[in-house]
Amino acid sequence: MGGRGSSSGFSFTSPLRASDASDLDALATYMSDKYAMRLNVSALSKCDFESVRTAASGIEGIIVDFPGAALNFHELTSGNTGSAQATASYNGVITLAQHAFDSTKKYKRSYDYSVRAKWHPEGTDGDHIAVHEAGHILERALIDKYVLSKGNSFLVTAEARNAWQKCTYASKVISEASKIVKKLPSEKGKGIKTLITDVSGYAAKNRSEALAECVADYKANGRAAKPLSVAVWDILKRELG
Ligand SMILES: [Zn+2]
Repeated sequence: MGGRGSSSGFSFTSPLRASDASDLDALATYMSDKYAMRLNVSALSKCDFESVRTAASGIEGIIVDFPGAALNFHELTSGNTGSAQATASYNGVITLAQHAFDSTKKYKRSYDYSVRAKWHPEGTDGDHIAVHEAGHILERALIDKYVLSKGNSFLVTAEARNAWQKCTYASKVISEASKIVKKLPSEKGKGIKTLITDVSGYAAKNRSEALAECVADYKANGRAAKPLSVAVWDILKRELG
């Protein structure tokens, strides 16, 4: 019979995971073939390859955990992100800051400093920068699920954009998660603001950042992550897992 499943004719050197890719072209082919996610090779070639591979691997981990969001991951690129180390856009583009990702050591050192300052979750490191951004794409996937599924009229598109700007779906997730967490004996008496700042200082910026920080916290620490992060993760798994 043969046919599908037979490996004859295929190269054994093609990576099984993003972290196995030997160079940027191999990584780009892998992410494109497996997840339909484009890597902007010319922009990313200005970054350190190891840092790009780590970012792709972090994104892959989130796609594997949340198959319901897989189609929202469109592109990984690099460029000027202002003061941010990376950004995620409504269109599913994750941009790594060229000024940071040109050296793995550099962005890791800067991230570690911010963890010590409690600006990012305890236990996370520079490898979680892209995971945090992937968390934003999960919010976009919720907008697809609850808003864009209604059609592609002007009104629906405007509602979706508005939901992204106003962190509407991140707010829903954080609010539901905090209600769950407040029932835990260990968290009794804590308000939503405290539960959020327990995750990280940056999480207090707005609800989208809170959600993304919870995703990074959970990916780094699993069930030992902060209670809010565990609850957020479980809600996202229910919605997109
Ligand atoms: Zn963010």
